[in-house]
Amino acid sequence: MTLKSAETWYEATAPARDAAPPPRGVIAADVCVIGGGLAGLTTAMEVQRRGRIAVLLEAKRIAWGASGRNGGFVGNGFALGVEDIIEKVGLKNAQALYRLSAHGTEYVRREVTRLDQTLRMSDGVIVAQRVNDPSGSRRYVEMMLRDFSEGLELLSTEQTRMLLKTERYFQGIKNPHSFLIHPLRYAQALADDARHRGVLIHENTPALDVRKEKRNFIVRTAQAEIHAPHVVHCVSSLDRRINRTIGRAILPIATYVAVTEPLDQDAIRTRCGVGDMRRAGDYYRLISDKRILWGGRITTRVSEPARLAQMLKRDMLSVYPQLGDPKIDYAWSGLMGYALHKMPLIGRTADGQWFATAFGGHGLNTTAMAGILMARAIADGDDEYRRFAAFAPKWVGGPFGRIGVQASYWHMQLRDVLDERADRKKRE
Ligand SMILES: Cc1cc2nc3c(=O)[nH]c(=O)nc-3n(C[C@H](O)[C@H](O)[C@H](O)COP(=O)(O)OP(=O)(O)OC[C@H]3O[C@@H](n4cnc5c(N)ncnc54)[C@H](O)[C@@H]3O)c2cc1C
Repeated sequence: MTLKSAETWYEATAPARDAAPPPRGVIAADVCVIGGGLAGLTTAMEVQRRGRIAVLLEAKRIAWGASGRNGGFVGNGFALGVEDIIEKVGLKNAQALYRLSAHGTEYVRREVTRLDQTLRMSDGVIVAQRVNDPSGSRRYVEMMLRDFSEGLELLSTEQTRMLLKTERYFQGIKNPHSFLIHPLRYAQALADDARHRGVLIHENTPALDVRKEKRNFIVRTAQAEIHAPHVVHCVSSLDRRINRTIGRAILPIATYVAVTEPLDQDAIRTRCGVGDMRRAGDYYRLISDKRILWGGRITTRVSEPARLAQMLKRDMLSVYPQLGDPKIDYAWSGLMGYALHKMPLIGRTADGQWFATAFGGHGLNTTAMAGILMARAIADGDDEYRRFAAFAPKWVGGPFGRIGVQASYWHMQLRDVLDERADRKKRE
């Protein structure tokens, strides 16, 4: 399969920008943020808003990692589902965590509106059921309203199939408050605004190591040293050596996106984002020029774009065979960071280094939430970040951890298929 370009659709539709040059010499700051994805950018922005001097170091370009290449779905919650969070920390704590995640969503909504309204591409996300279970869906919607004040809409099978022309789906659960953005342009706009406000941003600048000297941390780069009493690690799974405690607790998980050529199609009749309710589900949406952006699958090794374009196309056609043989113009992978418990890692190491990372596949709201928590902790002494203490960093088990994740994904896929089969049998 020949792709139109090796770049992502987001890169192809974002303006070209000059890179911010690396630093030289010794620089004093209040906070040094390592990593220029959305976690690092929001932290630096919020620290600066509270009157502190922030330096941000990015190894490549702003949002080069997951932040600039994701699905663009923004909505409340975490990579770990609410039922599992309740099981782990109880209902009250789960509600407090969910409220924090909602602050993150609100933050992105507000910033997008303030920076450039066109960053928000459409509204609403529908989670489509692969198994016919109207009472289960209703119970979920009622629980989310009662326990989390989340007003979801239940769509009948008929209503769902009006919007999504496939017999694969039954009920749909719509969150009208979720929305869809152009994540790369959002991160770039946030970076430009942060720089304008005084954040010192340096691209093509990997942090090489961090050491403590009296009251300061010293972050070394190829040609500079940043001296600051606070350092915040926001590198996700892309550098597992810069801080051993966090590096050992985060697994790199690759996931994939493909974008079709512009299509005249009648299968997807909504601008809402769509996710399917399976344990290992797909997600997709219509983007400009009538293209379909289709995401899904996870692996613990990065597959090459042409092969993954084929895989994703097969997934897409298994839901919408009527699309025929659409050409895939763009396909790319991205690395997410996951802790074994699937919740973000937010806190401080024994020697006082901050970390805000491991947002998994639900990072657009939670990176914003974490940036606010970090800035409040550093500038105001606020300790709300401690709510994440129940989800502390734990060793993920090196290569065995990776094998475990891949095996559990295949296991989830298998259970999805078996559940669908059982449901089909029941209806026959
Ligand atoms: C394909 C895909 C689809 C997704 N879809 C969604 C979605 O629809 N909705 C959602 O909420 N979430 C989604 N996610 C998850 C979300 O994108 C991430 O959770 C989030 O972007 C993580 O942000 P981050 O800042 O922690 O990490 P990243 O964005 O990965 O940023 C880390 C940065 O650190 C830099 N870095 C690494 N090492 C160093 C170093 N030594 N010095 C300096 N810099 C360094 C890297 O270059 C990188 O830019 C998706 C992820 C992927 C990959």
